[in-house]
Amino acid sequence: MIHDTIAAIATPPGMGGIGIIRISGDQALPVISGLFGNTLKGPMDCLNLESHRVVHGYIFHPREHIVLDEVLLVPMLAPRSYTRENVVEIHAHAGPMVMRAILESIIFLGVRLAEPGEFTKRAFLNNRIDLTQAEAISDIISARSTASMKMAAVQATGKLKENITHAREILISLLTLIEAAIDFPDEGDELIQEKQVLEHIDRVIAICRQGINTYEEAHFLRDGIKLAICGSPNVGKSSLMNCLLESERSIVTAIPGTTRDLIEEGINIDGVPFVISDTAGMHETKDPVEQIGIQKAKESITRADMILFMKPAGETISAQEIDAVVPSHEKVIIVFNKMDLMPEGFTPTIPADIQKIPHALISARRGRGIQNLKKQILSLSAADKTDPTGVVPNLRHKMALEKTKNALSCARQNLIHHREEETLAIDIRMAAEALGEITGDTADIDILDKIFSQFCIGK
Ligand code: GDP
Ligand code: ZN
Repeated sequence: MIHDTIAAIATPPGMGGIGIIRISGDQALPVISGLFGNTLKGPMDCLNLESHRVVHGYIFHPREHIVLDEVLLVPMLAPRSYTRENVVEIHAHAGPMVMRAILESIIFLGVRLAEPGEFTKRAFLNNRIDLTQAEAISDIISARSTASMKMAAVQATGKLKENITHAREILISLLTLIEAAIDFPDEGDELIQEKQVLEHIDRVIAICRQGINTYEEAHFLRDGIKLAICGSPNVGKSSLMNCLLESERSIVTAIPGTTRDLIEEGINIDGVPFVISDTAGMHETKDPVEQIGIQKAKESITRADMILFMKPAGETISAQEIDAVVPSHEKVIIVFNKMDLMPEGFTPTIPADIQKIPHALISARRGRGIQNLKKQILSLSAADKTDPTGVVPNLRHKMALEKTKNALSCARQNLIHHREEETLAIDIRMAAEALGEITGDTADIDILDKIFSQFCIGK
């Protein structure tokens, strides 16, 4: 495969100890030769750099012939590199001006600026990694919680790829058999043993089902557990939200798409990501503007994985008022707020029919009881029981798994009802293609472009 040579700054912008510029492609070594003249210490000939051996030298501006920086070079020659092409990394001093000057010099010598994710795209196109591994690398970089980082790291090693490739191989060998039976109808019965074919189909259906289930169970470790705070006006929703954010300030991230009616923020509790929403205005109103807010609040409660139902400590609570806003008791924690207004040693009274719902007593204003509440949140989320080191498909993978499973269910029916082999072949081919979309074997260029464009420059 012939590609032009690309370059990009691989380290974040700004000042720092070291900044890295990465070059990949056939012209990587000649370009280095153009930048260093004969200043390299050690192996003098830039075109014959030894792979994976660091060399020291000075970069000269190719037109102005002035020294730009004293640097280290790391040559990684094809195929022993990230892209499987000739790669050279230049480790320079990380100042915005010097990095830009070096990059401009490289571009001056005929190299093209890399697009976001283009190095990884080349790694994919040159079969160094599959699509699930490429996605995992992006996930590692953008992980906002320990849990999602661990999940991505496992996927980057190729575990998901192995599972999917295995399943796809089963289908492809089935397909070969069925096609042979179509071509040689006389021997068809010997080629296709219904029971065996069924077994293989069921094995792949089981693999799909398992992947889909894991997604349902663990996707929140990647996307964040949706936690909605609800309760009547002035009960202290905003104060509690601030409390939760306050104690995790250093790792707070704003969620894009935040509206004024519904405020959403991301936090980590013990390395588990949560997306908290404050459902302002859950009271009856005739004001149309407020009604929009209420509608949004109701939607966020429906979507929520967990709900903090707030009540002033000292007020009684009933099953009916919870039922009125929350679809299921299983996802609820009752939060009694303003305990500072109650006498010392106060305990809330909870009616018998809702005693199974966990509750916490807090003062959002004084920041009391918050640690205990966080423990309750973690334990209800069951995130502490979910193993983040397993293989967890992402939404794209899950949809492809569903497509595979549905096609195989059709294949199953066709087989049991002894429909024509051609029909069976079509279903199985469709299933195999859907699996190939996951690893990238059969993904079309639009999907690939979409995935790689989400990467950062220099990766
Ligand atoms: P929201 O309407 O539910 O969002 O309630 P806010 O968080 O805006 O709080 C309403 C009022 O209750 C504010 O004046 C808060 O200072 C007060 N408040 C919130 N939490 C507490 C608390 O724990 N104790 C006391 N005494 N007041 C609180
Ligand atoms: Zn509020």
